[in-house]
Amino acid sequence: MGILKPDYRFNSILEISVPFLKEKGIEGLLLDVDNTLAHHFSQTPIEGLEKWLKEIAAAGIKTLILSNARSSRVEPFAEKIGVAYTPKAMKPLPFRAWSSCREMGVKSKNTAIIGDQLFTDMLCGSLSGTTKILVTPMHEETGRLFKIKRGLERKILK
Ligand SMILES: [Mg+2]
Repeated sequence: MGILKPDYRFNSILEISVPFLKEKGIEGLLLDVDNTLAHHFSQTPIEGLEKWLKEIAAAGIKTLILSNARSSRVEPFAEKIGVAYTPKAMKPLPFRAWSSCREMGVKSKNTAIIGDQLFTDMLCGSLSGTTKILVTPMHEETGRLFKIKRGLERKILK
């Protein structure tokens, strides 16, 4: 199950520091939106995100939003925080991750994917050859499918 497992885990994206990323040779970040940068369906970035993004940018680390959601959800959010974006990313498939790395001008081996789900974000990281960073989802989704997925995730991470 290694392909579903993260390389690193943080409680929040805000805990991922510039020195940590530099030490791992990370020059670009592919960012999930729902439950990583904002609550599910919310257009409001989590508190502290804009400050974090400024620090990342000041360190010369590129960022790009890689989301499976459609552009009507992703575009207004991405524009609000001033980050380039790829909607309908089809994670866990690696193709949009690769094109997004090219867009950032960073090799996939120097890129980290940051997200809250094993079956989309972490698997995409394995398939695309990027470093996998898992963050704790900010809030548990209610749908039945999500409950099953989160249950499986907990088993895998044990
Ligand atoms: Mg998510």
